[in-house]
Amino acid sequence: AVYGASGCGRSVMPVLREQFSDVDKSAFVFIDDAPPANFLNGHEILTWNSFLELSGRACSAALAIANSVIRERLFWRCLDSGVRIQSVTASSVVVMDEVEIDSGALLSPYVTITSNIKIGKAFHANLYSYVEHDCVIGDFVTFAPSVKCNGNVRVEDHVYIGAGAVIKQGTPEKPLVIGRGAVVGMGAVVTKSVPPGVTVVGNPARILRRG
Ligand code: UDP
Repeated sequence: AVYGASGCGRSVMPVLREQFSDVDKSAFVFIDDAPPANFLNGHEILTWNSFLELSGRACSAALAIANSVIRERLFWRCLDSGVRIQSVTASSVVVMDEVEIDSGALLSPYVTITSNIKIGKAFHANLYSYVEHDCVIGDFVTFAPSVKCNGNVRVEDHVYIGAGAVIKQGTPEKPLVIGRGAVVGMGAVVTKSVPPGVTVVGNPARILRRG
Protein backbone atom coordinates (compact mmCIF):
# COMPACT_ATOMS: atom_id res chain seq x y z
CA ALA A 1 0.00 0.00 0.00
CA VAL A 2 0.84 3.63 -0.36
CA TYR A 3 -0.28 5.49 2.76
CA GLY A 4 -1.60 8.91 1.69
CA ALA A 5 -3.92 9.27 -1.32
CA SER A 6 -2.91 12.76 -2.34
CA GLY A 7 -0.07 14.43 -4.27
CA CYS A 8 2.83 12.61 -2.69
CA GLY A 9 1.02 9.27 -2.85
CA ARG A 10 0.24 9.64 -6.55
CA SER A 11 3.94 10.24 -7.26
CA VAL A 12 5.02 7.25 -5.21
CA MET A 13 2.51 4.65 -6.46
CA PRO A 14 3.96 4.25 -10.00
CA VAL A 15 7.47 3.93 -8.56
CA LEU A 16 6.30 1.23 -6.15
CA ARG A 17 4.63 -0.64 -9.02
CA GLU A 18 7.84 -0.41 -11.04
CA GLN A 19 9.76 -1.86 -8.07
CA PHE A 20 7.39 -4.85 -7.97
CA SER A 21 6.84 -5.17 -11.71
CA ASP A 22 5.89 -8.85 -11.43
CA VAL A 23 2.93 -8.04 -9.12
CA ASP A 24 -0.52 -7.36 -10.59
CA LYS A 25 -1.66 -3.73 -10.44
CA SER A 26 -4.77 -4.73 -8.46
CA ALA A 27 -2.58 -5.79 -5.52
CA PHE A 28 -1.52 -2.16 -4.90
CA VAL A 29 -3.87 0.03 -2.86
CA PHE A 30 -3.84 3.44 -1.23
CA ILE A 31 -4.56 3.89 2.48
CA ASP A 32 -6.08 7.16 3.61
CA ASP A 33 -7.71 8.18 6.89
CA ALA A 34 -9.97 10.62 5.03
CA PRO A 35 -10.39 8.92 1.65
CA PRO A 36 -11.08 11.52 -1.02
CA ALA A 37 -12.83 8.86 -3.19
CA ASN A 38 -13.08 5.08 -3.51
CA PHE A 39 -10.47 4.88 -6.28
CA LEU A 40 -7.46 6.92 -7.32
CA ASN A 41 -5.56 6.42 -10.58
CA GLY A 42 -6.98 2.92 -10.88
CA HIS A 43 -6.22 1.84 -7.30
CA GLU A 44 -8.64 1.22 -4.47
CA ILE A 45 -8.40 3.63 -1.52
CA LEU A 46 -8.84 1.82 1.80
CA THR A 47 -9.22 3.22 5.27
CA TRP A 48 -6.67 2.06 7.82
CA ASN A 49 -9.16 -0.39 9.37
CA SER A 50 -10.12 -1.95 6.06
CA PHE A 51 -6.44 -2.25 5.16
CA LEU A 52 -5.77 -4.08 8.43
CA GLU A 53 -8.43 -6.63 7.49
CA LEU A 54 -6.10 -7.64 4.64
CA SER A 55 -3.15 -8.11 6.96
CA GLY A 56 -3.16 -11.90 6.55
CA ARG A 57 -1.69 -11.19 3.11
CA ALA A 58 1.74 -9.93 4.22
CA CYS A 59 0.94 -6.25 3.87
CA SER A 60 3.42 -3.44 3.81
CA ALA A 61 2.95 0.31 3.50
CA ALA A 62 5.03 3.10 1.97
CA LEU A 63 4.48 6.32 3.92
CA ALA A 64 3.81 8.91 1.21
CA ILE A 65 2.91 11.96 3.28
CA ALA A 66 5.29 14.91 3.14
CA ASN A 67 4.42 16.21 6.62
CA SER A 68 7.06 14.60 8.81
CA VAL A 69 5.08 14.71 12.05
CA ILE A 70 2.19 12.80 10.45
CA ARG A 71 4.69 10.49 8.81
CA GLU A 72 6.26 9.63 12.15
CA ARG A 73 2.86 8.97 13.73
CA LEU A 74 1.90 6.62 10.88
CA PHE A 75 5.31 4.94 10.99
CA TRP A 76 4.74 3.81 14.57
CA ARG A 77 1.08 2.99 13.88
CA CYS A 78 2.16 0.59 11.15
CA LEU A 79 4.83 -1.07 13.25
CA ASP A 80 2.49 -1.40 16.26
CA SER A 81 -0.03 -3.17 14.00
CA GLY A 82 2.47 -5.51 12.40
CA VAL A 83 2.41 -3.72 9.03
CA ARG A 84 5.88 -3.58 7.51
CA ILE A 85 7.24 -0.22 6.42
CA GLN A 86 7.98 -0.32 2.70
CA SER A 87 10.95 1.48 1.18
CA VAL A 88 10.56 2.69 -2.39
CA THR A 89 13.52 3.24 -4.74
CA ALA A 90 13.10 4.30 -8.35
CA SER A 91 15.18 2.34 -10.88
CA SER A 92 17.03 5.54 -11.88
CA VAL A 93 18.27 6.17 -8.33
CA VAL A 94 22.05 6.03 -7.87
CA VAL A 95 23.42 4.91 -4.49
CA MET A 96 27.22 4.75 -4.25
CA ASP A 97 29.49 3.22 -1.56
CA GLU A 98 28.98 2.71 2.18
CA VAL A 99 25.49 4.12 2.38
CA GLU A 100 23.30 3.13 5.31
CA ILE A 101 19.58 3.88 4.93
CA ASP A 102 17.06 3.06 7.67
CA SER A 103 13.56 1.77 6.90
CA GLY A 104 10.87 3.50 4.87
CA ALA A 105 12.88 5.77 2.59
CA LEU A 106 11.17 7.02 -0.56
CA LEU A 107 13.81 7.74 -3.20
CA SER A 108 12.14 9.32 -6.23
CA PRO A 109 13.39 9.14 -9.82
CA TYR A 110 16.87 10.61 -10.49
CA VAL A 111 17.88 10.89 -6.83
CA THR A 112 21.60 10.38 -6.16
CA ILE A 113 23.08 9.36 -2.82
CA THR A 114 26.86 9.31 -3.10
CA SER A 115 29.29 7.67 -0.67
CA ASN A 116 29.74 7.31 3.11
CA ILE A 117 26.31 8.53 4.07
CA LYS A 118 23.94 7.60 6.90
CA ILE A 119 20.20 8.23 6.57
CA GLY A 120 17.49 7.75 9.22
CA LYS A 121 13.89 6.55 9.14
CA ALA A 122 11.31 7.39 6.45
CA PHE A 123 13.50 9.80 4.48
CA HIS A 124 11.82 11.43 1.48
CA ALA A 125 14.13 12.46 -1.34
CA ASN A 126 12.00 13.88 -4.11
CA LEU A 127 12.83 14.07 -7.84
CA TYR A 128 16.45 14.96 -8.76
CA SER A 129 17.62 15.60 -5.19
CA TYR A 130 21.12 14.59 -4.23
CA VAL A 131 22.99 13.89 -1.00
CA GLU A 132 26.77 14.20 -1.28
CA HIS A 133 29.56 12.40 0.60
CA ASP A 134 29.78 12.16 4.39
CA CYS A 135 26.32 13.55 5.13
CA VAL A 136 24.28 12.34 8.08
CA ILE A 137 20.52 12.65 7.65
CA GLY A 138 18.24 12.15 10.66
CA ASP A 139 14.77 10.60 10.98
CA PHE A 140 11.68 11.83 9.08
CA VAL A 141 13.60 14.29 6.93
CA THR A 142 11.93 15.60 3.75
CA PHE A 143 13.68 16.86 0.63
CA ALA A 144 11.41 18.45 -2.00
CA PRO A 145 12.55 18.10 -5.63
CA SER A 146 16.08 19.15 -6.67
CA VAL A 147 17.57 19.67 -3.23
CA LYS A 148 21.34 19.90 -3.48
CA CYS A 149 22.82 18.73 -0.21
CA ASN A 150 26.61 18.94 -0.48
CA GLY A 151 29.25 17.03 1.49
CA ASN A 152 29.74 16.96 5.26
CA VAL A 153 26.28 18.25 6.13
CA ARG A 154 24.27 16.99 9.12
CA VAL A 155 20.50 17.26 8.73
CA GLU A 156 18.69 16.62 12.00
CA ASP A 157 15.29 14.94 12.52
CA HIS A 158 12.11 16.43 10.99
CA VAL A 159 13.90 18.96 8.78
CA TYR A 160 12.05 20.05 5.62
CA ILE A 161 14.08 21.37 2.68
CA GLY A 162 12.18 23.11 -0.12
CA ALA A 163 12.54 22.64 -3.86
CA GLY A 164 15.83 23.70 -5.39
CA ALA A 165 17.53 24.65 -2.14
CA VAL A 166 21.32 24.38 -2.07
CA ILE A 167 23.17 23.49 1.12
CA LYS A 168 26.85 24.46 1.20
CA GLN A 169 29.32 21.75 2.13
CA GLY A 170 30.76 21.55 5.65
CA THR A 171 34.08 20.03 6.62
CA PRO A 172 34.84 16.78 8.43
CA GLU A 173 35.91 18.84 11.49
CA LYS A 174 32.92 21.19 11.31
CA PRO A 175 29.92 19.84 9.43
CA LEU A 176 27.23 22.32 8.42
CA VAL A 177 24.22 21.45 10.64
CA ILE A 178 20.54 21.98 9.81
CA GLY A 179 18.92 21.81 13.26
CA ARG A 180 15.98 19.62 14.22
CA GLY A 181 12.65 20.70 12.74
CA ALA A 182 14.10 23.56 10.70
CA VAL A 183 12.52 24.53 7.39
CA VAL A 184 14.63 25.64 4.42
CA GLY A 185 12.58 27.61 1.89
CA MET A 186 12.55 26.77 -1.80
CA GLY A 187 15.58 28.05 -3.67
CA ALA A 188 17.42 29.04 -0.50
CA VAL A 189 21.20 29.00 -0.52
CA VAL A 190 22.29 27.83 2.91
CA THR A 191 25.86 28.94 3.61
CA LYS A 192 26.06 28.30 7.36
CA SER A 193 24.46 26.15 10.05
CA VAL A 194 20.75 26.65 10.75
CA PRO A 195 19.44 26.51 14.35
CA PRO A 196 16.70 24.03 15.29
CA GLY A 197 13.09 25.01 14.60
CA VAL A 198 13.65 28.09 12.45
CA THR A 199 12.66 28.83 8.85
CA VAL A 200 15.36 30.19 6.54
CA VAL A 201 14.87 31.71 3.09
CA GLY A 202 16.87 33.55 0.44
CA ASN A 203 20.44 33.80 -0.80
CA PRO A 204 22.31 33.73 1.47
CA ALA A 205 19.62 32.06 3.60
CA ARG A 206 18.47 34.10 6.59
CA ILE A 207 16.07 33.34 9.42
CA LEU A 208 12.50 34.31 8.53
CA ARG A 209 10.91 33.38 11.82
CA ARG A 210 11.47 31.15 14.80
CA GLY A 211 9.27 28.00 14.91
N1 UDP B 1 -3.70 11.58 5.82
C1 UDP B 1 -3.97 10.36 6.40
N2 UDP B 1 -3.76 10.21 7.74
C2 UDP B 1 -3.32 11.22 8.53
C3 UDP B 1 -3.03 12.48 7.94
C4 UDP B 1 -3.23 12.62 6.57
O1 UDP B 1 -4.38 9.44 5.72
O2 UDP B 1 -3.17 11.02 9.75
C5 UDP B 1 -3.92 11.75 4.38
C6 UDP B 1 -4.86 12.91 4.05
O3 UDP B 1 -6.23 12.49 4.15
C7 UDP B 1 -4.44 13.28 2.63
C8 UDP B 1 -2.94 12.88 2.61
O4 UDP B 1 -2.71 12.07 3.75
O5 UDP B 1 -5.16 12.53 1.65
C9 UDP B 1 -2.01 14.09 2.71
O6 UDP B 1 -2.18 14.87 1.58
P1 UDP B 1 -1.58 16.32 1.39
O7 UDP B 1 -2.05 16.80 0.07
O8 UDP B 1 -1.88 17.14 2.61
O9 UDP B 1 -0.01 16.11 1.41
P2 UDP B 1 1.06 15.38 0.45
O10 UDP B 1 0.39 14.39 -0.43
O11 UDP B 1 1.69 16.48 -0.32
O12 UDP B 1 2.00 14.79 1.42
